[in-house]
Amino acid sequence: DRHPDEQYEPDPNKKTLVILGTGWGSVALLKKLDTENYNVVVVSPRNYFLFTPLLPSCTTGTIEHRSIMEPVRAILRGKKAAAKFFEAEATSIDPERKVVRIADNSEIKGATSETEIPYDMLVVGVGAENATFGIPGVRENSCFLKEIGDAQQIRKKIMDCVETAAFKGQAPEEIDRLMHMVVVGGGPTGVEFAGELQDFFEEDIKKLVPDISPRFKVTLIEALPNVLPMFSKTLIDYTENTLREEKIDIKTKTVVKKVTDKTVEAEVSRPDGSKERVEIPYGLLVWATGNAVRPIVKDLAAKIPAQKDSRRGLAVNEYLVVQGTRDIWAIGDCAVAGYAPTAQVASQEGNFLGRLFNNMAKTENHEARIQELSSKLNLQTGNSAEAAQEIELLERQLKKIRDVKPFKYSHQGSLAYIGSEKAVADVSWWNGNLATGGSLTYLFWRSAYLSMCFSTRNRVLVILDWLKSKAFGRDVSRE
Ligand code: FAD
Ligand code: NAD
Repeated sequence: DRHPDEQYEPDPNKKTLVILGTGWGSVALLKKLDTENYNVVVVSPRNYFLFTPLLPSCTTGTIEHRSIMEPVRAILRGKKAAAKFFEAEATSIDPERKVVRIADNSEIKGATSETEIPYDMLVVGVGAENATFGIPGVRENSCFLKEIGDAQQIRKKIMDCVETAAFKGQAPEEIDRLMHMVVVGGGPTGVEFAGELQDFFEEDIKKLVPDISPRFKVTLIEALPNVLPMFSKTLIDYTENTLREEKIDIKTKTVVKKVTDKTVEAEVSRPDGSKERVEIPYGLLVWATGNAVRPIVKDLAAKIPAQKDSRRGLAVNEYLVVQGTRDIWAIGDCAVAGYAPTAQVASQEGNFLGRLFNNMAKTENHEARIQELSSKLNLQTGNSAEAAQEIELLERQLKKIRDVKPFKYSHQGSLAYIGSEKAVADVSWWNGNLATGGSLTYLFWRSAYLSMCFSTRNRVLVILDWLKSKAFGRDVSRE
């Protein structure tokens, strides 16, 4: 009989490197890593990489969701040495025993759906979950915008709201409610989604349901005095003016306090300093108020005394080692390294770790060879002059390899789509900064994101989707 673990046979001469997640950080690491140096095991509940920057476009069907997904098995197939992938969620990490507990929480489960994986080295790249700040009703009533399933749900709900509003005999105030799309959070996710939604309305919904379309309205709610806080003042003003021209209602200094199935209750700060409670009826509610720490990360942090003060994720040192551990690294949105939780940061961190691990493996190989040659010299077997020469060369190389500089993030700039074929960009340009907004920036936005797509296949699919929706309009069938 075959042993159940026969399919998973790590090479005893290599260290086992377990990588959690298949997002921006982990996939950048995998791309860079020489897999032949380690027994590489990847664990993620999602068997694909998701190109998040174009996710808002999937909510309206400008881009089809499969165009921005890349199967992780296809990524691993391209590697020199085989790496294992398990579609599962890491449920706990034991840093003492050096094992990760994993569970298959997908719809179809086999007789075995939970097990443990031992590691020598562990990379935590599990990202973050959606922040709700414990505000009542958010989880039950709103859509998030983080995963493919979220975008699909939003796409379906937009059309459901429109079709329900168009139902025979629908009361006017009910039509107003159903056609009211509310977005909470004026960060880039909220702004980009609001822009995409307004485009959808202008370019398609208006033509298809002309009788009720004047009632369609997008409202963007933000707690702070302005949207897109990470952009420069000029671009914030440009964005707010453009959104207003697009007829998006921006409600700043408005904090959502409670959500019910049909209304949002918020507190508005008036210019005179007074506060007013308002109730806003909605048909679709999208919640985009940023990141919260995943339970697996909280659980691990609680087991490491040095992490007792880290509230926003795993505090790492300049080599991305989780503080208080020797063999756990963290990258991306779950790591606290002093940078913003963006794809740009996550992928640079992943890339850095890939190089670091390649170097570590080379160091070990060189050290082992030096030891072998030295014992030959001691025993005076073989050509000692040749051995001494090789040792010298290896030591010189080792010095270079060991000289790894700590991780340093290089900011390439911020880009966001704001609707009506306009985008804003704060980019580094010839040692200076360039802040631009408008239609040219939109072309730049498109080409930048295209060039960043994971594969040529993704790139071609995205271009075809853009052409398709331009030529035939977006597909409004409600799947
Ligand atoms: P993620 O990419 O979120 O990946 C986390 C991975 O871990 C996933 O594969 C997940 O399935 C897996 N996972 C989760 N739980 C577990 C578990 N328990 N065990 C194992 N695996 C687990 N950033 C930019 O720089 N530019 C942009 O234009 C941009 N646009 C964005 C648009 C949207 C709509 C969103 C939501 C985000 C955007 N971001 C952008 C932010 C960017 O997507 C994140 O910062 C980035 O995804 C972080 O990478 P990560 O690898 O840390 O996490
Ligand atoms: P965010 O944290 O950037 O913004 C969330 C916003 O929600 C904040 O401005 C906050 O003030 C507001 N908010 C919080 N609670 C609220 C409440 N109760 N009522 C009203 N408003 C409330 O979140 P995000 O937009 O999801 O972005 C998350 C990360 O992903 C960021 O680091 C961002 O830079 C990155 N991202 C980048 C891009 C891009 O570069 N184009 C796109 C999407 C996301």
